[in-house]
Amino acid sequence: MNPAAALEVEGVGKRYGALQALREISFAVSRGETVAILGPNGAGKTTLLSIVAGILEPSEGGVAHKQGEVGWAPQHAALYSKLSVAENLTLFARLAHVEDPHAAVERMLDQTGLRERAGDLVGQLSGGNRQRVNIAIGLLSDPPLLALDEPSASLDPAQRERLWSFVAERAASGTAVLFSTHNASEAQRHADRVLVLDQGTLRFDGSPGELMSRFGDADLERSLVRFLEGDAT
Ligand code: ATP
Repeated sequence: MNPAAALEVEGVGKRYGALQALREISFAVSRGETVAILGPNGAGKTTLLSIVAGILEPSEGGVAHKQGEVGWAPQHAALYSKLSVAENLTLFARLAHVEDPHAAVERMLDQTGLRERAGDLVGQLSGGNRQRVNIAIGLLSDPPLLALDEPSASLDPAQRERLWSFVAERAASGTAVLFSTHNASEAQRHADRVLVLDQGTLRFDGSPGELMSRFGDADLERSLVRFLEGDAT
């Protein structure tokens, strides 16, 4: 593995029965790099992130990263609704064999702004706050690679800003971040690179600026739509 790489994905394919959900996906993510996965519904974003996180086995190809060192925040978190925020974090820190669970939980309560919610039952939280707990769990072990599936989907604008400044801080300290989103403007603002998946195929791998310059348009969303519609470039 290239020492500057936090993740290498090589020739990954995934079949669900007769459906080829991913085919021949190859890319690498460097330390400190933030990479967005964009693409229509059903393009394979969650499948790819789940393979990177080690939740799903690929049908072909492989993924290389330091084993056990992926922080994973799935789209739908499996949290314990009858436990408090702090109890959930502590439980997941223990399950992940974090060296000092108490210190990790304290750090995450501060870093994610969940301190004042620490004693609240997760079942009574708003969707956005549940999502914050979900992301906090992915970060408990301070992993060098984060895989986030639509992390901002249920957050309000202020929480979204907070999420991205938090992610930027992690990236500045060397964490590699791979996230999916349907929000192209978010990718334009926060990602160094975008991967465009379409029907399981990686159709673009480059900076938001590169994709926009193909269409002479300063808006990534419009450029993406035109790209996916197959406009000549
Ligand atoms: P969305 O933007 O809607 O979240 P996505 O890009 O994340 O979509 P995936 O959820 O990875 O896409 O799904 C890719 C394809 O694989 C879709 O056609 C989906 O129906 C199919 N698929 C996903 N999971 C399974 C499964 N467990 N069994 C069978 N088919 C699946």
